[in-house]
Amino acid sequence: MTKKSEMTGLIVAAGQELVCDDCRKVMRHPQEYVSIYEGGEPPRNLCVKCARKEGYLWFTGLIVVKEMVCDGCGRVAGHPERYGYIHYTCEEGKPPLRLCEDCSRARGYLEWKKDERGQVVETFL
Ligand SMILES: [Zn+2]
Ligand SMILES: [Zn+2]
Repeated sequence: MTKKSEMTGLIVAAGQELVCDDCRKVMRHPQEYVSIYEGGEPPRNLCVKCARKEGYLWFTGLIVVKEMVCDGCGRVAGHPERYGYIHYTCEEGKPPLRLCEDCSRARGYLEWKKDERGQVVETFL
């Protein structure tokens, strides 16, 4: 039995540059991206934002309640730090990832945005 499409969550290799096939954003190490293979075609590479838009992964920014261990660097983060909760919806059996703010930033889950008052703040995508 062959699956219709397969997706894999990957990290851009050191020294490599990758362009998102949707928004054309350039991604660099150690940002995460999703590679989608739909049979026949060369795989499509999507940044985490576009992958979420298409439903391949799901993530949100949360506040640490007591403490949590970062799945990226192993650091223990405590309240009230923010962390990223990432779930690869199409990768069966892969447990959700919890990443501290530093790892979330490094992997491309944070971005600078202007808030309602015109101030630039760093938020989860
Ligand atoms: Zn994109
Ligand atoms: Zn971390």
